[in-house]
Amino acid sequence: MKLIIFDADGTLRFCTVEGQPCPNRSGEWELYPDVKEKLAEYDWVSPNSPEHGTGYGIASNQGGVGVGYFSEETAISLLKDTVREAFGFDPAEGTIEICPHVPYSGCGCRKPDPLMLHNLMNKYGVSPQEVLFVGDRDADEKAAENAGCNFMWAYKFFCREPD
Ligand SMILES: [Mg+2]
Ligand SMILES: [Zn+2]
Repeated sequence: MKLIIFDADGTLRFCTVEGQPCPNRSGEWELYPDVKEKLAEYDWVSPNSPEHGTGYGIASNQGGVGVGYFSEETAISLLKDTVREAFGFDPAEGTIEICPHVPYSGCGCRKPDPLMLHNLMNKYGVSPQEVLFVGDRDADEKAAENAGCNFMWAYKFFCREPD
């Protein structure tokens, strides 16, 4: 695979606030314990990097922005923190895609729509067959299908016990 795209919540990180599906602010999330070690197996490269390696990206539905739980800036900042901790470096520009819209708004970017995956593929200039999307929800699997790329469940990628 030339590019591996990750969902965030339920894939890389989990919310530490009971009964709340996603973090609303810093201090409300943790990486799954297997994430750092697994990601360290790869030689990650940024878009437009001349080096050989594997591209990375995040595609995250952040409906909490649309609902008004937190700002788009906060959502992106929390995802940058997540990448920093998971991958061990700051995410390059254009490697984080979010949908800040409420569900059922017909925005076109919210997974299962494939726009966020398409944007990341375009950023790296790779074709769908060269891309793997890793996620934990049916909407993730469907988004990969709609984008024409490969899909793997997070529990398989990270060798976790399935929910
Ligand atoms: Mg998820
Ligand atoms: Zn959207």
